[in-house]
Amino acid sequence: MLRRALIVGNWKMNGLLEGALELGEGIQAGLAEREGRKVICEVVICPPFIALHPLNERLGGSSLKLGGQNMSAEGMGAHTGEISGLMLRNVGCRYVLLGHSERREMYGETDALVAKKTAVAFQDGLNPIVCLGEKEAERDGGQTLEVVAAQLEAVIPSLPEPLSQRQKLVVAYEPVWAIGTGRNATPEQAQEVHGFLRERLVDLLGEKVGNRIRLLYGGSMKPGNAAALLTQPDVDGGLIGGASLKVSDFLAIIDALPS
Ligand code: PEP
Repeated sequence: MLRRALIVGNWKMNGLLEGALELGEGIQAGLAEREGRKVICEVVICPPFIALHPLNERLGGSSLKLGGQNMSAEGMGAHTGEISGLMLRNVGCRYVLLGHSERREMYGETDALVAKKTAVAFQDGLNPIVCLGEKEAERDGGQTLEVVAAQLEAVIPSLPEPLSQRQKLVVAYEPVWAIGTGRNATPEQAQEVHGFLRERLVDLLGEKVGNRIRLLYGGSMKPGNAAALLTQPDVDGGLIGGASLKVSDFLAIIDALPS
């Protein structure tokens, strides 16, 4: 298998600690049931920061992995209110979401900042999941491929040299107009962009690495549309927001992966 499927839940700023523990344990129980039946994909949850340590204590050693929703571009030190990559690693995270459109739009994160965070994530031993995608006006203006190409190219200089490390980059294509709106990209629209991103990755990094980097689709993925999206040849998994907050919906999306 060239690329192992990856399903990531982005819980955003939802829930309190008890709810987060219940949700994480519910997902883990569902995965444990499935593990006996078929080869399972890789599953990551990205809870709010305060839930990471207690979830790591309860889930540590299980197949369910943890990710941060964001991290600082700086190392440890005088950065009030920030969370470093090493801190995320320290509470069991293997992944970190970077450049989510909500961070880009609401908190002014630029391509340059996302690139800096990508470099720091690799240095700190985290696998970055770099989010990119076009706004509605950009799609309407026919600029989708140009926009995602620029966002992708911005992070390439941040990748470490060894090929074994570079291929740990994950890219999530999330059209901004589809996030939290209930309007998903059609499978054809998703494949068009994913196929283009795959070609760019191969051009920029060579066949070996370009063909191994996983491309996730995100934007109103639900149990009802997951199978059609996840069976596209260059869609290697999903980044799920709203539907990751309900155990049965999240597990139904995992079940929709082609076996
Ligand atoms: C997201 O926030 O990354 C996302 C894909 O959200 P939703 O699934 O709710 O559209």
